[in-house]
Amino acid sequence: MLREFHCIQDCSDCCINRQYYPSVDYGKIGVLLLPEEKKEMENQAESYKLKVSIYPRVGIGMNKKSDGPRQVIAYQLMGSNINGDYCPLLDIRSNNRSPHGGFNCLIYNERPLSCRAYPVIKENNTHAKLDCNCKFSCQYSNQVNKNLLESEFSALTRIKNNFEWFEDQTIWRYATHVGEKRFIKFLLPRGWYLQK
Ligand code: SF4
Ligand code: SF4
Repeated sequence: MLREFHCIQDCSDCCINRQYYPSVDYGKIGVLLLPEEKKEMENQAESYKLKVSIYPRVGIGMNKKSDGPRQVIAYQLMGSNINGDYCPLLDIRSNNRSPHGGFNCLIYNERPLSCRAYPVIKENNTHAKLDCNCKFSCQYSNQVNKNLLESEFSALTRIKNNFEWFEDQTIWRYATHVGEKRFIKFLLPRGWYLQK
């Protein structure tokens, strides 16, 4: 029988830990932002007097003049730690906690779609598939009952709809050059790299 998803008590892992993607040389990624979310995120950070770094993440097409993409289709909100971890909008200073005991998101009601979708990465008729880095997924199962995950699915669908139309285009990824000290020598210089 499929389990019901719930956040693990006191966990904030998905707002803290950032992954190297698509491989270590590209550095750690930040929180995915759609282009229309970038300005909103900058405004939100400013209203909390937070300094944030938002890098491009994925681009498409060829811009011969700049040797980069013609269009940026995704950005990323970088972590505030030097190693790339800790979303800057995570409230780690106050004593406020979320209902399951994790740190609070300062902009919970306005958080990006990628945060609203997480940890769901796929769905089918019977179950939802979770990201393997989610603590629930690590401890119990990455296949869960679809019940109570409507808002996650809705956010995931909106993200997917945004990316579907560029499937046959030239794709660029942005290397962040951010990561743990021990990996620094493997990291590509920050900038765009052609994928296909
Ligand atoms: S979604 Fe997963 S990683 Fe994030 S707080 Fe919940 S259990 Fe932890
Ligand atoms: S914006 Fe909020 S929900 Fe998203 S990673 Fe940052 S703290 Fe977590």
